[in-house]
Amino acid sequence: MIGNYINSELVPVTSDRNLPVTDPATGKVIDQVGLSSVADTEQAITSAEAAWPAWAQMTPLNRSRILFRFKALLEQNMDELATLISREHGKVHSDALGELTRGLEVVEFACGIPHLQKGEHSRNVGTDVDSHSMLMPLGVCAGITPFNFPVMVPMWMFPIALATGNTFVLKPSEKNPSAALRLAELLTQAGLPPGVFNVVQGDKESVDVLLSDARVKAVSFVGSTPIAEYIYSQGSAHGKRVQALGGAKNHLVVMPDADLDQAVNALMGAAFGAAGERCMAISVAVAIGDEVADKLAEKLTARIRELRVGPGYGQSVENEMGPLITDDHMKRVSSYIDAGEAEGATLLVDGRDYQVPGFENGYYVGGTLFDHVTPGMTIYREEIFGPVLSMLRAQSLDEALTLINEHEFGNGTAIFTADGEAARRFSDQVEVGMVGVNVPIPVPMAFHSFGGWKRSLFGPLHMHGSDGVRFFTRMKTITTRWPKNQQQQADFVMPTMK
Ligand code: NAD
Repeated sequence: MIGNYINSELVPVTSDRNLPVTDPATGKVIDQVGLSSVADTEQAITSAEAAWPAWAQMTPLNRSRILFRFKALLEQNMDELATLISREHGKVHSDALGELTRGLEVVEFACGIPHLQKGEHSRNVGTDVDSHSMLMPLGVCAGITPFNFPVMVPMWMFPIALATGNTFVLKPSEKNPSAALRLAELLTQAGLPPGVFNVVQGDKESVDVLLSDARVKAVSFVGSTPIAEYIYSQGSAHGKRVQALGGAKNHLVVMPDADLDQAVNALMGAAFGAAGERCMAISVAVAIGDEVADKLAEKLTARIRELRVGPGYGQSVENEMGPLITDDHMKRVSSYIDAGEAEGATLLVDGRDYQVPGFENGYYVGGTLFDHVTPGMTIYREEIFGPVLSMLRAQSLDEALTLINEHEFGNGTAIFTADGEAARRFSDQVEVGMVGVNVPIPVPMAFHSFGGWKRSLFGPLHMHGSDGVRFFTRMKTITTRWPKNQQQQADFVMPTMK
């Protein structure tokens, strides 16, 4: 039974509620995960609260040295961690290694905390008066994370939270709970004191404790939009700062002057990598003009038919795409394909009822392509989170911009073109948080910040980079004058500097 990690120890969940953990490649149950009770979750918060004063007082340099050791341990254990991710998530091994690298980069960024947390100083804001601002830690922070990046998304949060002097309670996805525990063990091995990083396995019951317990000062969330909205409203109502990243529907615009082979390569990786279970996956291709659309449809159809789909581990030639996360999700994605057909889109490649020899009970959906999708269709409006690419035809860049800007989500988008002016206009006018120019998945590096617009993000601050440092700290500004220069009489007007 997979349990919690509290005070540097693996501890069992005390509730009698649990869920099976399956290997999506085979459909076999490989373990059970306990679902924490209110008391289990409170125990983790108590441990994090007790550890906070000493951790907050440790010098940033020494906190950073622990993170440097954690980084080295991650590097030594990359292969084992990638295998763990692949076993419970399904993504192929090289993709799991990519996820780890993107998480590791946030650790590398957080290692620079002595510089990042220096604050600001002004000499002589008035005569003989100086002012400085300090970035102070908040206390206990919580992270609630989705199934699709069991290592990277937690590592968007906790390296910066810990580096800035906070303690942390992570509530990973109940669908793939093991990687978080391995990260906790590596942090302890790196020298992190007990209680500074804790893991509670669970579902809504433990999340609701993290949202309402007054000892938790900040909540960082990544997951689907309805839950992100719930987390934002509940966490804010309880006086916490919250950043809640939600779902997506990312469009890639192919201009008539784009190199079509490059665009096809980009679309294949961005739509079908990780079986489309990425918040930055491209799920909509917008072809400008029917000529581009016809050629794209032909080239994509041929390539999708050749996709190597199967288990993410244990193959002599690695597959390009693994299974979906659960049986339910596989059925849900298939039902979206049913809906697309019923609503009149042209189904060019159908991934339903996909069979992988030897893995008949795995949760596979093959690569799927729709053409002639229109904005009113369910498959266009909703996030499918599977290997289903919808193609829309627009007659101009302006029409494409209108389409994207009218969509509920605004996480990522991309344009493929050889025209600098078009790319600049697109980047400027598109209402989306992360934009790629001839880059299909424009995930910002760790030292920039990650976040969408519209209903893809609730809260003002993005993840990691300078926004991450601001999210996990509060500013204190100190204005100083030394006694021999003190004023001699009371002053009843609003103070101004002389
Ligand atoms: P999810 O919303 O179902 O779950 C996310 C987390 O919330 C999990 O830890 C889960 O246990 C918890 N949760 C679920 N239901 C809850 C409830 N009713 N009350 C309280 N907590 C609850 O998301 P998922 O299926 O794990 O992940 C896929 C989603 O995440 C997709 O929508 C995807 O776009 C999104 N995502 C977004 C980003 C981003 O950066 N914007 C990144 C990765 C994934």
